[in-house]
Amino acid sequence: MKKIVSTFMLSLSTALFLTACGGNANNENGNQDNASAEDGIYVTASFSVLADMIEHVLGDRGTVDYIVPIGEEPHEYEPVPNDFRNVNDADVFYVNGLGLEEWLERVVDNASDTEVVSLSDGVEAIPLVGEDEADPHAWLSPKNAPYYVENIVEDLIERDPEGEEEYRANAEAFLAEIEELDAWIEEQVDNIDEAHRTIVISENAFKYFGEDYGFATEGIWEINSHEEGTSGQINRVIDILREEGIPAVFVETTVDKRYMETVSENSDVEIAGEVYTDAVGTEGSGAETYIEMMRHNAETFVDGLTTE
Ligand SMILES: [Zn+2]
Repeated sequence: MKKIVSTFMLSLSTALFLTACGGNANNENGNQDNASAEDGIYVTASFSVLADMIEHVLGDRGTVDYIVPIGEEPHEYEPVPNDFRNVNDADVFYVNGLGLEEWLERVVDNASDTEVVSLSDGVEAIPLVGEDEADPHAWLSPKNAPYYVENIVEDLIERDPEGEEEYRANAEAFLAEIEELDAWIEEQVDNIDEAHRTIVISENAFKYFGEDYGFATEGIWEINSHEEGTSGQINRVIDILREEGIPAVFVETTVDKRYMETVSENSDVEIAGEVYTDAVGTEGSGAETYIEMMRHNAETFVDGLTTE
């Protein structure tokens, strides 16, 4: 198993502990007024999960916006004119990369000279099942989150060298939280019978998580940008559930649940809960941040897959 290695050895004293939580408003659809120069760096992210990570590192030195609204998935999103403006006005556009944002080219062509930075750089890509293409959902393993944080901090320092100490301190605090989350998930997973460590979900998005924490994963479909929910795909999963005796299946907040409901009805395996994959939770969900959404996901998997 990979270990999280903090690459941020700081000469700063811990007295300079600057936390960045909840600094700037994440609005629902990137329609925040543009930050003026005095407000610091203006970052636009492709989707909400990245925006939360960026806020943690950026702290008070700027503002963060994101394009894909919470509740929608970021693969095949249709950008609206406001999105082009938003990216155009940003100092930098942070994306996941690994082919997640299929609409990226359209925005870049229409929008501007705004630099695009891929936050998943450095992650060891896992291919989609049966394909050469990478699965983009690297953020769903907290063991990959340090790559994202490192890419954010290095890029922000380049743009705003005066903020270096603050960015590094923010990043170190965030990485400590991620490390704690990682250790907690490993502990939780121990509660699940090894024969039951399979995540069955609509979009097979937990490969990175599965590889890092010891789960097999199965989706009705491989990725949201492919065909979704054919009867062949549904029957395949029903067969797997019958053969392997998997105690629970799961649904995502950003995916139509009817396909998994059909699987559940026809296999008599219950849907044990809803997890967050391609977006953080809405306000009041208790999963408004990356850390919270991943904690919720791990809890949901453990509750669903632990049988007496
Ligand atoms: Zn996805």
